[in-house]
Amino acid sequence: MKIIRSVKQMQQITLSLKNKKTIAVVPTMGALHEGHLSLVRLAQKKAQVVVATIFVNPMQFGKNEDFNRYPNNEKEDLEKLSRLRVDYVFLPKMTDIYPPDYQTHVTVERVTQGLCGRSRPGHFQGVTTIVLKLFQITQPDYAVFGEKDYQQLVVIKTMVRDLNLPVKILPGRIVREPDGLAMSSRNAYLSTAERELGLSLNRGLNKVKRACFKSRLSVKEMRRVFLSEISKSHKIKLDYFECVDSRTLNSINKHCPRRTLLAAAIFVGKTRLIDNLVV
Ligand code: AMP
Repeated sequence: MKIIRSVKQMQQITLSLKNKKTIAVVPTMGALHEGHLSLVRLAQKKAQVVVATIFVNPMQFGKNEDFNRYPNNEKEDLEKLSRLRVDYVFLPKMTDIYPPDYQTHVTVERVTQGLCGRSRPGHFQGVTTIVLKLFQITQPDYAVFGEKDYQQLVVIKTMVRDLNLPVKILPGRIVREPDGLAMSSRNAYLSTAERELGLSLNRGLNKVKRACFKSRLSVKEMRRVFLSEISKSHKIKLDYFECVDSRTLNSINKHCPRRTLLAAAIFVGKTRLIDNLVV
C-alpha cells in the first residue's frame, strides 16, 4: 500500500495507470469504520486498482459544525486499509487542495435543496466540489459511496450525469452495529446514554416501515409513527423526517408509491445523526 500526500504525485500515478488498469476511488473523511471498509471491498471487486482518500473537507462543514473536532485516527486508518491491501491511500494537504486564492465551486441545484441540504446550507456544494476535485486527481473508472448518505449519493450521480463525467458511481449498503445503529465516524461523540438514545432513529424508521406493511399510511401518519418513537426523550431533537421518491428525492405528500425513501436526521445532544431506509 502506497501512501501519497501530494496532489501532483497522485495525479501522475493515476494518469499513468489510466486505460491500462481500471481504477476505483473510495472518498472518505477518515476515522474509518466497517462502513468505509465495506466500500473498499466493493471497490476491490470492481476495479484492479483501488485508491482510498482521506481528507476532512472544510468546505462541506457549516460555521457551527464540528470541523475542528472531527475525529482523526490516521495511524489506525492506515492499518485498517493496509490490512485490506488497498493499493493507494491519498491523504492530501489542506493547502494543496485549497490554496489561498481558491475560488471555484460546483453546484448541483434541485436535489441539494431538501433533507440535509435544508439544515446544512452549502454542505452539498462543499461535497460536490471536493468530489469533482478527487475525481480529477484520481481519474477513477468507478467511485463508491455509501447509502448511509443517501442524498449525497443522488447529488453525486446527478453531478456525474450533468457534467458527463466518465465515472460509474457504485452504491454501498449501510453497515450497522448489531443493535441497528448505522455506523458513523460521529458515533464517537456519543456518550453511552446518548448512544442508547441514538438507537431510536433506526427504531423509528423501522416502526414506520412495519406500519406501512400493515396498512396504507399517509405521510402525515408516517411522521406521527416516527415521532412516537423519537419523542420518548427530550434529549432528542428532530431535524427532519421526510418521505421522498428514492430516485428524484421529490417529496411525497400523500401516500407512498413503490421505492419511497424514508430519511431522517436527529440531534442527540450536540451530535447530529442521519439514517434512512427504502420502503
Ligand atoms: P465519511 O467519511 O463520513 O465522509 O464517509 C465516507 C463514505 O463512507 C461515504 O460514501 C459514506 O456514505 C460512507 N459511509 C459512512 N458510513 C457508512 C455506513 N455505516 N455504511 C456504509 N457506508 C458508509
